[in-house]
Amino acid sequence: MNLTGRTRLVGVMGWPVSHSRSPAMHNAALQAAGLDVVYVPLPVDPANIGEAVRGLRALGFRGSNVTIPHKQTVIEYLDRLTDEAKVIGAVNTIRVEADGSMTGHNTDCYGAVGALRQDGGEVAGRTVVILGAGGAGRAVAAGCAFAGARRVVLLNRTVERAREVVAELRAKLPDRCEWLAGGLGKDALPESIWAEVSAVFQTTSVGMNDFGEIPLDANVLPSGCHVLESVYSPLNTPFLLQCRARGLRITDGLAMLLEQGALSFEFWFGIAPDRRAMRRALDS
Ligand code: NAP
Repeated sequence: MNLTGRTRLVGVMGWPVSHSRSPAMHNAALQAAGLDVVYVPLPVDPANIGEAVRGLRALGFRGSNVTIPHKQTVIEYLDRLTDEAKVIGAVNTIRVEADGSMTGHNTDCYGAVGALRQDGGEVAGRTVVILGAGGAGRAVAAGCAFAGARRVVLLNRTVERAREVVAELRAKLPDRCEWLAGGLGKDALPESIWAEVSAVFQTTSVGMNDFGEIPLDANVLPSGCHVLESVYSPLNTPFLLQCRARGLRITDGLAMLLEQGALSFEFWFGIAPDRRAMRRALDS
Protein backbone atom coordinates (compact mmCIF):
# COMPACT_ATOMS: atom_id res chain seq x y z
CA MET A 1 0.00 0.00 0.00
CA ASN A 2 1.44 3.33 -1.07
CA LEU A 3 0.00 6.19 1.01
CA THR A 4 0.51 9.70 -0.32
CA GLY A 5 -0.35 13.22 0.78
CA ARG A 6 -3.46 12.97 -1.41
CA THR A 7 -4.74 9.60 -0.18
CA ARG A 8 -8.51 9.72 0.46
CA LEU A 9 -10.40 7.57 2.95
CA VAL A 10 -13.49 5.42 3.01
CA GLY A 11 -14.40 3.07 5.85
CA VAL A 12 -16.96 1.04 7.72
CA MET A 13 -18.66 2.24 10.91
CA GLY A 14 -19.82 -0.49 13.26
CA TRP A 15 -19.72 -1.56 16.90
CA PRO A 16 -17.93 -3.88 17.01
CA VAL A 17 -16.25 -3.82 13.62
CA SER A 18 -13.08 -5.87 14.18
CA HIS A 19 -14.68 -8.97 12.58
CA SER A 20 -15.53 -7.11 9.34
CA ARG A 21 -14.23 -8.52 6.07
CA SER A 22 -15.03 -5.30 4.20
CA PRO A 23 -11.57 -3.68 4.65
CA ALA A 24 -9.79 -6.62 2.99
CA MET A 25 -12.39 -6.81 0.20
CA HIS A 26 -12.48 -3.07 -0.54
CA ASN A 27 -8.75 -2.50 -0.32
CA ALA A 28 -8.27 -5.28 -2.88
CA ALA A 29 -10.73 -3.50 -5.19
CA LEU A 30 -9.13 -0.07 -4.60
CA GLN A 31 -5.69 -1.45 -5.35
CA ALA A 32 -6.91 -3.23 -8.50
CA ALA A 33 -8.52 0.05 -9.68
CA GLY A 34 -5.32 2.02 -8.96
CA LEU A 35 -7.21 4.53 -6.78
CA ASP A 36 -5.33 6.54 -4.17
CA VAL A 37 -7.92 5.63 -1.53
CA VAL A 38 -7.73 3.46 1.60
CA TYR A 39 -10.63 1.68 3.36
CA VAL A 40 -10.40 1.63 7.16
CA PRO A 41 -12.40 0.03 10.01
CA LEU A 42 -14.16 2.67 12.14
CA PRO A 43 -15.28 1.33 15.53
CA VAL A 44 -17.98 3.81 16.61
CA ASP A 45 -19.68 3.57 20.01
CA PRO A 46 -23.44 4.17 19.48
CA ALA A 47 -23.20 7.17 21.84
CA ASN A 48 -20.87 8.88 19.32
CA ILE A 49 -22.62 8.12 16.04
CA GLY A 50 -23.62 11.73 15.29
CA GLU A 51 -20.09 13.03 15.82
CA ALA A 52 -18.69 10.19 13.73
CA VAL A 53 -20.98 10.91 10.77
CA ARG A 54 -20.18 14.63 10.90
CA GLY A 55 -16.52 13.65 11.17
CA LEU A 56 -16.65 12.03 7.73
CA ARG A 57 -17.13 15.49 6.22
CA ALA A 58 -14.64 17.15 8.55
CA LEU A 59 -11.92 14.62 7.75
CA GLY A 60 -12.47 14.59 4.00
CA PHE A 61 -13.75 11.02 3.72
CA ARG A 62 -15.23 10.03 0.34
CA GLY A 63 -17.83 8.00 2.23
CA SER A 64 -18.41 5.09 4.54
CA ASN A 65 -20.20 1.82 4.91
CA VAL A 66 -22.45 1.50 7.94
CA THR A 67 -23.13 -1.73 9.76
CA ILE A 68 -24.82 -3.00 12.94
CA PRO A 69 -25.96 -1.22 15.11
CA HIS A 70 -25.89 2.09 13.19
CA LYS A 71 -27.90 1.44 10.01
CA GLN A 72 -31.01 3.28 11.24
CA THR A 73 -29.50 5.79 13.65
CA VAL A 74 -27.23 7.43 11.03
CA ILE A 75 -30.26 8.60 9.06
CA GLU A 76 -30.95 11.72 11.12
CA TYR A 77 -27.42 13.04 10.43
CA LEU A 78 -27.67 12.75 6.62
CA ASP A 79 -28.88 15.39 4.14
CA ARG A 80 -30.77 13.06 1.80
CA LEU A 81 -31.62 9.41 1.21
CA THR A 82 -31.91 7.43 -2.01
CA ASP A 83 -35.26 5.75 -2.74
CA GLU A 84 -33.82 2.39 -1.67
CA ALA A 85 -32.72 3.72 1.72
CA LYS A 86 -36.09 5.45 2.21
CA VAL A 87 -38.08 2.29 1.49
CA ILE A 88 -35.90 0.03 3.65
CA GLY A 89 -35.48 2.61 6.42
CA ALA A 90 -31.80 1.78 6.79
CA VAL A 91 -28.51 3.03 5.34
CA ASN A 92 -25.43 0.89 4.71
CA THR A 93 -23.55 3.38 2.50
CA ILE A 94 -22.87 7.09 2.97
CA ARG A 95 -21.41 9.26 0.21
CA VAL A 96 -19.90 12.66 0.97
CA GLU A 97 -20.75 14.89 -2.01
CA ALA A 98 -18.47 17.55 -3.49
CA ASP A 99 -20.38 20.29 -1.58
CA GLY A 100 -19.93 18.41 1.72
CA SER A 101 -23.54 17.22 1.95
CA MET A 102 -24.12 13.54 2.70
CA THR A 103 -26.30 11.02 0.88
CA GLY A 104 -27.45 7.76 2.47
CA HIS A 105 -27.98 4.71 0.28
CA ASN A 106 -28.73 1.02 0.82
CA THR A 107 -26.85 -1.56 -1.27
CA ASP A 108 -27.94 -4.53 0.90
CA CYS A 109 -31.11 -4.14 -1.12
CA TYR A 110 -29.53 -5.16 -4.45
CA GLY A 111 -26.63 -7.20 -3.03
CA ALA A 112 -28.55 -10.45 -2.99
CA VAL A 113 -30.31 -9.91 -6.33
CA GLY A 114 -27.02 -8.79 -7.91
CA ALA A 115 -25.17 -11.84 -6.58
CA LEU A 116 -27.89 -14.12 -7.95
CA ARG A 117 -27.63 -12.39 -11.34
CA GLN A 118 -23.84 -12.74 -11.38
CA ASP A 119 -24.50 -16.50 -11.14
CA GLY A 120 -27.06 -16.50 -13.97
CA GLY A 121 -30.22 -16.21 -11.83
CA GLU A 122 -33.07 -13.71 -12.34
CA VAL A 123 -35.95 -12.32 -10.32
CA ALA A 124 -37.66 -10.02 -12.87
CA GLY A 125 -41.12 -11.35 -13.65
CA ARG A 126 -40.66 -14.32 -11.27
CA THR A 127 -41.97 -15.63 -7.96
CA VAL A 128 -39.32 -15.32 -5.25
CA VAL A 129 -39.28 -16.48 -1.64
CA ILE A 130 -37.37 -14.76 1.15
CA LEU A 131 -36.76 -16.75 4.34
CA GLY A 132 -36.45 -14.32 7.26
CA ALA A 133 -37.98 -10.92 8.00
CA GLY A 134 -35.11 -9.29 9.90
CA GLY A 135 -32.92 -6.48 8.55
CA ALA A 136 -31.51 -8.63 5.73
CA GLY A 137 -34.89 -10.11 4.77
CA ARG A 138 -36.54 -6.69 4.57
CA ALA A 139 -33.71 -5.30 2.38
CA VAL A 140 -33.72 -8.32 0.06
CA ALA A 141 -37.53 -8.22 -0.26
CA ALA A 142 -37.38 -4.55 -1.26
CA GLY A 143 -34.52 -5.34 -3.68
CA CYS A 144 -36.62 -8.04 -5.35
CA ALA A 145 -39.53 -5.62 -5.75
CA PHE A 146 -37.25 -2.89 -7.18
CA ALA A 147 -35.74 -5.50 -9.53
CA GLY A 148 -39.17 -6.33 -10.99
CA ALA A 149 -40.18 -9.59 -9.25
CA ARG A 150 -43.79 -10.54 -10.04
CA ARG A 151 -44.54 -12.07 -6.63
CA VAL A 152 -42.52 -11.64 -3.42
CA VAL A 153 -43.19 -14.12 -0.60
CA LEU A 154 -41.76 -13.39 2.85
CA LEU A 155 -41.66 -16.36 5.24
CA ASN A 156 -40.54 -15.99 8.84
CA ARG A 157 -40.51 -18.04 12.07
CA THR A 158 -42.50 -15.23 13.71
CA VAL A 159 -45.35 -14.89 11.21
CA GLU A 160 -46.52 -11.58 12.62
CA ARG A 161 -43.17 -9.99 11.81
CA ALA A 162 -43.38 -11.21 8.20
CA ARG A 163 -46.89 -9.73 7.93
CA GLU A 164 -45.75 -6.39 9.32
CA VAL A 165 -42.79 -6.12 6.93
CA VAL A 166 -44.96 -7.06 3.95
CA ALA A 167 -47.65 -4.55 4.95
CA GLU A 168 -45.03 -1.82 5.18
CA LEU A 169 -43.33 -2.66 1.88
CA ARG A 170 -46.67 -3.03 0.10
CA ALA A 171 -47.65 0.46 1.31
CA LYS A 172 -44.30 1.97 0.23
CA LEU A 173 -44.10 0.16 -3.12
CA PRO A 174 -47.74 -0.11 -4.27
CA ASP A 175 -48.45 -1.96 -7.53
CA ARG A 176 -44.84 -3.17 -7.83
CA CYS A 177 -45.64 -6.83 -7.26
CA GLU A 178 -47.88 -9.27 -5.42
CA TRP A 179 -46.82 -9.62 -1.76
CA LEU A 180 -47.43 -12.68 0.44
CA ALA A 181 -46.39 -13.39 4.04
CA GLY A 182 -46.33 -16.61 6.05
CA GLY A 183 -44.49 -18.88 8.46
CA LEU A 184 -41.46 -21.03 7.70
CA GLY A 185 -42.39 -24.41 6.23
CA LYS A 186 -44.05 -26.22 3.36
CA ASP A 187 -47.58 -25.41 4.58
CA ALA A 188 -46.98 -21.67 4.21
CA LEU A 189 -47.83 -21.86 0.51
CA PRO A 190 -50.02 -24.01 -1.74
CA GLU A 191 -48.12 -26.47 -3.95
CA SER A 192 -49.08 -24.46 -7.04
CA ILE A 193 -47.08 -21.47 -5.75
CA TRP A 194 -44.10 -23.56 -4.59
CA ALA A 195 -43.95 -24.95 -8.14
CA GLU A 196 -43.51 -21.41 -9.51
CA VAL A 197 -40.67 -20.36 -7.18
CA SER A 198 -37.61 -19.32 -9.24
CA ALA A 199 -35.41 -18.05 -6.42
CA VAL A 200 -35.10 -18.45 -2.66
CA PHE A 201 -33.11 -15.99 -0.53
CA GLN A 202 -32.21 -17.51 2.83
CA THR A 203 -31.77 -14.52 5.17
CA THR A 204 -32.48 -16.03 8.61
CA SER A 205 -29.49 -16.50 10.90
CA VAL A 206 -30.13 -20.28 10.92
CA GLY A 207 -26.88 -22.01 10.00
CA MET A 208 -24.58 -19.58 11.81
CA ASN A 209 -24.38 -21.89 14.80
CA ASP A 210 -23.31 -25.49 14.52
CA PHE A 211 -26.74 -26.96 15.33
CA GLY A 212 -27.35 -28.65 11.97
CA GLU A 213 -30.62 -26.69 11.67
CA ILE A 214 -32.25 -25.77 8.34
CA PRO A 215 -34.90 -23.04 7.89
CA LEU A 216 -36.82 -24.95 5.16
CA ASP A 217 -36.76 -28.46 3.69
CA ALA A 218 -35.21 -27.98 0.23
CA ASN A 219 -37.31 -30.85 -1.12
CA VAL A 220 -40.25 -28.46 -1.33
CA LEU A 221 -38.44 -26.39 -4.01
CA PRO A 222 -38.79 -27.03 -7.75
CA SER A 223 -35.71 -28.40 -9.53
CA GLY A 224 -35.03 -25.20 -11.52
CA CYS A 225 -34.94 -23.04 -8.39
CA HIS A 226 -31.85 -20.91 -7.60
CA VAL A 227 -31.01 -20.57 -3.89
CA LEU A 228 -28.98 -17.79 -2.28
CA GLU A 229 -27.69 -18.42 1.25
CA SER A 230 -26.87 -15.16 3.04
CA VAL A 231 -24.98 -16.73 5.96
CA TYR A 232 -21.25 -16.86 5.10
CA SER A 233 -19.72 -18.09 8.34
CA PRO A 234 -19.73 -21.01 7.91
CA LEU A 235 -19.86 -20.80 4.10
CA ASN A 236 -21.40 -24.25 3.70
CA THR A 237 -24.46 -24.14 5.93
CA PRO A 238 -26.64 -27.25 6.36
CA PHE A 239 -29.29 -25.57 4.14
CA LEU A 240 -26.77 -24.80 1.38
CA LEU A 241 -25.49 -28.38 1.52
CA GLN A 242 -29.02 -29.78 1.35
CA CYS A 243 -29.86 -27.55 -1.65
CA ARG A 244 -26.64 -28.59 -3.38
CA ALA A 245 -27.37 -32.28 -2.75
CA ARG A 246 -30.83 -31.70 -4.24
CA GLY A 247 -29.12 -30.35 -7.41
CA LEU A 248 -30.35 -26.75 -7.07
CA ARG A 249 -28.28 -23.80 -8.29
CA ILE A 250 -26.52 -22.12 -5.35
CA THR A 251 -25.10 -18.67 -4.61
CA ASP A 252 -23.21 -18.38 -1.32
CA GLY A 253 -23.19 -15.69 1.38
CA LEU A 254 -19.80 -14.29 0.39
CA ALA A 255 -21.17 -13.52 -3.08
CA MET A 256 -23.91 -11.41 -1.44
CA LEU A 257 -21.39 -9.67 0.82
CA LEU A 258 -19.21 -8.99 -2.22
CA GLU A 259 -22.05 -7.58 -4.31
CA GLN A 260 -23.30 -5.12 -1.68
CA GLY A 261 -19.67 -3.97 -1.36
CA ALA A 262 -19.24 -3.72 -5.14
CA LEU A 263 -22.37 -1.55 -5.34
CA SER A 264 -21.06 0.72 -2.54
CA PHE A 265 -17.79 1.05 -4.46
CA GLU A 266 -19.74 2.06 -7.60
CA PHE A 267 -21.79 4.55 -5.55
CA TRP A 268 -18.62 6.23 -4.24
CA PHE A 269 -16.37 6.14 -7.31
CA GLY A 270 -18.70 5.73 -10.30
CA ILE A 271 -16.75 2.76 -11.68
CA ALA A 272 -17.20 -1.00 -11.40
CA PRO A 273 -14.69 -2.71 -9.10
CA ASP A 274 -12.74 -5.86 -9.95
CA ARG A 275 -15.08 -8.45 -8.42
CA ARG A 276 -12.56 -11.27 -8.84
CA ALA A 277 -9.99 -9.38 -6.78
CA MET A 278 -12.66 -8.81 -4.13
CA ARG A 279 -13.59 -12.50 -4.04
CA ARG A 280 -9.91 -13.54 -3.79
CA ALA A 281 -9.56 -11.26 -0.77
CA LEU A 282 -12.67 -12.75 0.84
CA ASP A 283 -11.54 -16.33 0.19
CA SER A 284 -8.03 -15.84 1.55
P1 NAP B 1 -31.92 -10.04 12.29
O1 NAP B 1 -32.48 -8.72 11.92
O2 NAP B 1 -31.54 -10.30 13.71
O3 NAP B 1 -32.99 -11.17 11.84
C1 NAP B 1 -32.78 -12.52 12.15
C2 NAP B 1 -33.75 -13.39 11.34
O4 NAP B 1 -33.44 -14.77 11.56
C3 NAP B 1 -35.22 -13.21 11.74
O5 NAP B 1 -36.02 -13.38 10.60
C4 NAP B 1 -35.42 -14.36 12.74
O6 NAP B 1 -36.75 -14.78 12.85
C5 NAP B 1 -34.60 -15.45 12.07
N1 NAP B 1 -34.19 -16.52 12.98
C6 NAP B 1 -33.27 -16.44 13.98
N2 NAP B 1 -33.15 -17.64 14.58
C7 NAP B 1 -34.01 -18.48 13.97
C8 NAP B 1 -34.34 -19.87 14.14
N3 NAP B 1 -33.74 -20.62 15.06
N4 NAP B 1 -35.23 -20.41 13.30
C9 NAP B 1 -35.85 -19.66 12.33
N5 NAP B 1 -35.58 -18.36 12.12
C10 NAP B 1 -34.67 -17.77 12.93
O7 NAP B 1 -30.61 -10.38 11.44
P2 NAP B 1 -30.24 -9.89 9.94
O8 NAP B 1 -29.45 -8.65 10.02
O9 NAP B 1 -31.48 -9.92 9.12
O10 NAP B 1 -29.22 -11.04 9.48
C11 NAP B 1 -29.69 -12.35 9.27
C12 NAP B 1 -28.58 -13.22 8.68
O11 NAP B 1 -28.20 -12.72 7.41
C13 NAP B 1 -27.31 -13.26 9.53
O12 NAP B 1 -26.85 -14.59 9.56
C14 NAP B 1 -26.34 -12.39 8.78
O13 NAP B 1 -25.00 -12.81 8.93
C15 NAP B 1 -26.79 -12.61 7.35
N6 NAP B 1 -26.45 -11.47 6.50
C16 NAP B 1 -25.58 -11.68 5.47
C17 NAP B 1 -25.24 -10.64 4.62
C18 NAP B 1 -24.30 -10.88 3.49
O14 NAP B 1 -23.84 -9.91 2.89
N7 NAP B 1 -24.01 -12.12 3.13
C19 NAP B 1 -25.79 -9.36 4.84
C20 NAP B 1 -26.68 -9.17 5.90
C21 NAP B 1 -27.00 -10.23 6.72
P3 NAP B 1 -37.72 -14.18 14.01
O15 NAP B 1 -38.26 -12.88 13.48
O16 NAP B 1 -38.76 -15.22 14.17
O17 NAP B 1 -36.87 -13.99 15.25
